[in-house]
Amino acid sequence: SHDHWELDFEELTLGNELGSGQFGLVLEGRWRERKVAVKTIREECMSDEEFKEEARVMMKLSHHKLVELYGVCTQRSPMCLVFEFMEYGCLSDYLRSNKGQLSQDVMLGMCLDVSEGMAYLESSNFIHRDLAARNCLISRNNEVKVSDFGMTRFVLDDQYTSSLCSKFPVKWSAPEVIKFCKFSSKSDVWSFGVLMWEVYNEGRLPYENRSNAEVVESLNAGLRLLKPRLAPQPVYLLMEWAWKEKPDDRPSFALLLHELASLSDL
Ligand code: ADP
Repeated sequence: SHDHWELDFEELTLGNELGSGQFGLVLEGRWRERKVAVKTIREECMSDEEFKEEARVMMKLSHHKLVELYGVCTQRSPMCLVFEFMEYGCLSDYLRSNKGQLSQDVMLGMCLDVSEGMAYLESSNFIHRDLAARNCLISRNNEVKVSDFGMTRFVLDDQYTSSLCSKFPVKWSAPEVIKFCKFSSKSDVWSFGVLMWEVYNEGRLPYENRSNAEVVESLNAGLRLLKPRLAPQPVYLLMEWAWKEKPDDRPSFALLLHELASLSDL
């Protein structure tokens, strides 16, 4: 059947490899005069029946601060997901390669962009589950957009999906996610605090020399990531707010967006 989220593979031209992701290769491509990124999905990596169900929900999410999903080719193997092309690649690499050159305005702007995309997801009652600088991408006009929302639900690799395992993103996860897998927009807010920390540390990895177990232990003791040297105090206060132990004590994305916007007006 040709539903509106199903693209005709014949209309797709595939080009160079952009990278490789959780599910398989990511290729540059063309679709209807547009430059696109095509994620090819290795069958053993994804629960694809569930994904196909969810693809239509994800296609309804549309916002200029989210990387757009144009459609999927599910009729063939490997299955392909076709996304808006993001010229400057992922945020974490971008931060690292522009070290020492990012102004306060640019760093705050990056946080604002992400908070806008996330406020939209929050208002759509959609939980990202894996927000981090590596899952945001930069467009040709230097806008940061949120990518890969909800996708961890379809990962079949249990090294990745259990909080006790090596690939689980513990360093971005709220305590209730680590302990009970309790995901919510407020656990996304925690991850956003870590993303802000990554931005103001120019792409450094959080808790660089510590194991997941050590991170869990220090969080339990009430310790948090330290203020990045480049972060102004009001910005660090927002990070600390995002890292409150109780989800209810954390701000919503709507509120974070408002607070960040008022800092950028100063
Ligand atoms: P996954 O999150 O599924 O593990 P990624 O999204 O990290 O995979 O994709 C791997 C790489 O492919 C990224 O680091 C990025 O360089 C590139 N890439 C992914 N999506 C796009 C896109 N929409 N536009 C341009 N490059 C992309």
